[in-house]
Amino acid sequence: MQTNMHIIHITSELAKVAKVGGLADVVYGLSQELSRLGHTVEVILPKYDCLDYAAITELKTEQESLCNSTIWSAKLGNFSLVLIESQHYFHRGKIYGCQDDTKRFLHFCAATTAYLRTRHDPKAILHLHDWPTGAIPAFCKQQSLTNKIVFTIHNLEHQGWCNPHELTSWQLDPTVFQLKEGEFANLLKGAVVLADEITTVSPTYEKEIQTPEKGCGLDHLFQEHKEKLQGILNGIDEDFWNPAIDPHLITPFSTLNLTLEQITNLQEKKRENLRYLRTHLGLAHHPKPVVAAVTRLVSQKAPQLLYHALKRTLEKGGQFILLGSLPTQDLQEEFFQIQESFQHHPDVSILMDQDEALAHLIFAATDFLIIPSLFEPCGLTQMISLRYASIPIARLTGGLIDTVFDIDTSDKPVEERNGFTFTDANPQGVNWALDRALEHSINKKETLQKLILQGTQKNFSWKHAAPAYLALYSKKKP
Ligand code: ADP
Repeated sequence: MQTNMHIIHITSELAKVAKVGGLADVVYGLSQELSRLGHTVEVILPKYDCLDYAAITELKTEQESLCNSTIWSAKLGNFSLVLIESQHYFHRGKIYGCQDDTKRFLHFCAATTAYLRTRHDPKAILHLHDWPTGAIPAFCKQQSLTNKIVFTIHNLEHQGWCNPHELTSWQLDPTVFQLKEGEFANLLKGAVVLADEITTVSPTYEKEIQTPEKGCGLDHLFQEHKEKLQGILNGIDEDFWNPAIDPHLITPFSTLNLTLEQITNLQEKKRENLRYLRTHLGLAHHPKPVVAAVTRLVSQKAPQLLYHALKRTLEKGGQFILLGSLPTQDLQEEFFQIQESFQHHPDVSILMDQDEALAHLIFAATDFLIIPSLFEPCGLTQMISLRYASIPIARLTGGLIDTVFDIDTSDKPVEERNGFTFTDANPQGVNWALDRALEHSINKKETLQKLILQGTQKNFSWKHAAPAYLALYSKKKP
């Protein structure tokens, strides 16, 4: 029996209160699971003005004027929250996307470290997530905090670039954050150098970041720090993503311990959700297969291939639903035009939004989820879709390689295969996987039922991933 540990997650996102993408789900799901296992878990995040307070309880002020911030405490589910408030930096109506983002999160790192210092628990494990927390190891060193530090890379594309002066203004040594003297510094590099352990969110991504193709300029750095690098596959929270109790579904359904005979009944329940969704979105009601995408519309997610998939689905007799958030400006005009051109189409619905409730319903109602990503550190939507009996059509990259196994070509045993995959990030690649998926849906219904069953049998919950983190937390500090 493992002894009780004190684990402090430090993050810029948290599901239910401040979500942009998968990082939020991961910190929430892992925290819930670690608490369930009896550990003391705290999550520290900025107190954004756009925070969703619906699920938060016991909110109260803890300290004022600490590092120009107010410190709040609260509860979320079965763990504690610490919220760092700075009106200047976090009252911007959004989480990211400000010109001074690096400065904002440097402030967050400084205030968090000042708070940790007042708490003084040298045994607490500090688990940091992505570049917004990247300066914390350097601040800990500066403040002589000796806690064990685990740094998780959810997405290497963003590194928190800044002028070295930003760091010297906090009395931090910029050389730790720079690849070469005279260059811009980045917060993520500082964490890689100074953290005790580094994890990536899937085993394949751990290998990929050590290559020039996917290392985003840091491949040599990762090779140098290889001994403290480990890939741990993400999970999904079993309650948050549970179609049997999901409040956003019209007809809930269980996907646990099913037999092949029960799949027809499951499909009927999915169709009840689809009937509602079609009416809600103004789509035609006819027996066409439905392909969906639930994604941030950013270059990583291959928006052009998503658009191609939409057109191909129509050609092959299907319907397409796209729920895409637009966190950056660059694709807005193009996608609003695409949306306009399909506005009254009976078989296409395009929603430019971040909508948690609708996302849950889409996973539950549709037949396929397409994920053509150019790179994917882990990806959660394929795990969610499998749990909601929607089959993933995914490009083989990063964590998608570790989780989606092609019905025809995977080297996994036949009974472990769960989707349709493709390798080439081009329209031909998409066609190869999408055409087979739609063909199965129309002409090979029984084979597809087996695939649905196999997809629901794989458990991607935190029950599997949390022990790997616990083992890492328990490892003696080098
Ligand atoms: P990433 O973190 O790169 O965006 P992931 O697949 O790891 O991608 O996680 C995405 C998470 O964000 C999932 O929970 C997914 O349901 C959710 N999500 C993505 N886009 C949207 C959207 N437009 N509306 C609601 N939820 C979304």
